Amino acid sequence: MSEPLVRRMREFGETIFAEMSALAVRTGAINLGQGFPDESGPTAMLEHAADAILAGDNQYPPGPGVPELREAVAEQRRARYGLEYDPATEVFVTVGATEGIAAALLGLAEPGDEVIVFEPYYDSYAAMIAMAGAVRRTVTLRPEHGRFTFDPDELRAAVTPRTKLIMVNSPHNPTGTVFNRAELEQIAAVCREHDLVAITDEVYEYLTFDDAEHISLATLDGMRERTVVISSTGKTFSVTGWKTGWVCAPAPFVNAVRTVAQFVTFTASAPYQRATAYALREEGAWVEKLRKSLQSKRDRLISGLDAAGFETLRPQGTYFVQADIRPLGFTDGLELARALPERAGVVAIPTQVFYDHAEAGAHFVRFAFCKREAVIDEAVERLRRLAP
Ligand code: PMP
Ligand code: GLN
Repeated sequence: MSEPLVRRMREFGETIFAEMSALAVRTGAINLGQGFPDESGPTAMLEHAADAILAGDNQYPPGPGVPELREAVAEQRRARYGLEYDPATEVFVTVGATEGIAAALLGLAEPGDEVIVFEPYYDSYAAMIAMAGAVRRTVTLRPEHGRFTFDPDELRAAVTPRTKLIMVNSPHNPTGTVFNRAELEQIAAVCREHDLVAITDEVYEYLTFDDAEHISLATLDGMRERTVVISSTGKTFSVTGWKTGWVCAPAPFVNAVRTVAQFVTFTASAPYQRATAYALREEGAWVEKLRKSLQSKRDRLISGLDAAGFETLRPQGTYFVQADIRPLGFTDGLELARALPERAGVVAIPTQVFYDHAEAGAHFVRFAFCKREAVIDEAVERLRRLAP
């Protein structure tokens, strides 16, 4: 039989997260690969979800999401970013940010349209651009003064008459960069000049460190009207398995997302929506504690990785560290990541799989620090075995 998988998906095998997490289970290695915390979110939020299930809140919620979550999201955007979204027409609940990304790309990109993404990019962007029959154009983030950033000329050069959309993920997975105002102004200028729509993936919006501030691109001049904002519960409240996300955008964009999403999932799960509404309104102090604790875990992991011989970049946000493997005598991160469980009992993610130009990220691997301190300590202890 010939290959049944459609041609446009053939470049996509199993995701690196599935491959590496399976490797961790198979070898018993410590999993600092896939980014998921090893502790759950605020207890009262978990109780809200459990109570909702036991109270019988188990049928289809309204397509756009339960009103209390849409209202809580609108309140959060107003309080945190000063942006007004009408919960009735400009907020839409999705099955995680992943569905928001999927529905936005499928609903907004015509076949042949070009979509700009910064590489390394989150893997679902490339897959969904391909499913839409659109074409991705990458702008490379490179380390400069201790953080990954882009060359504005490269961004401008990536725009063609076919460019329709730009994906902006900040705080950025997998580099940990938080785009500053100057970088966002450059992106906004390109959007305004070429009439592009921005899709902003803000799932790490609360996870920023030191003096880094998350600025939503939609707050910049002329951007609210052309930005589709996406976020979710998973990272903010340490419940990555809840898969509850949302899209905020002007009504015609929300309509495009809704038109697709209603045939992909129809609705997102009711009890988690209610618990998320509660958490967005009431658990700000818990999130602030999480942020601080992640900052100290970041520093803990970085000290350990440096002592083990890696050269690290200190991320301004997310819960990932990029580690340069060359000081340890390695050159290929994919090879090292596949061998690491056997060699050191630890799993990491090879950064190069998130690039079209793999050579730009070949010598980096990504470690996650959303783990208990004892786990981080044990992992860095094991990684010391790599020293030549
Ligand atoms: N975007 C980025 C950058 C991510 O790291 C993730 C993984 N949490 C997602 C989107 C997906 O989010 P969710 O689990 O809410 O679908
Ligand atoms: N967002 C998480 C990461 O980057 C995991 C996502 C996934 O498994 N698809 O590690």
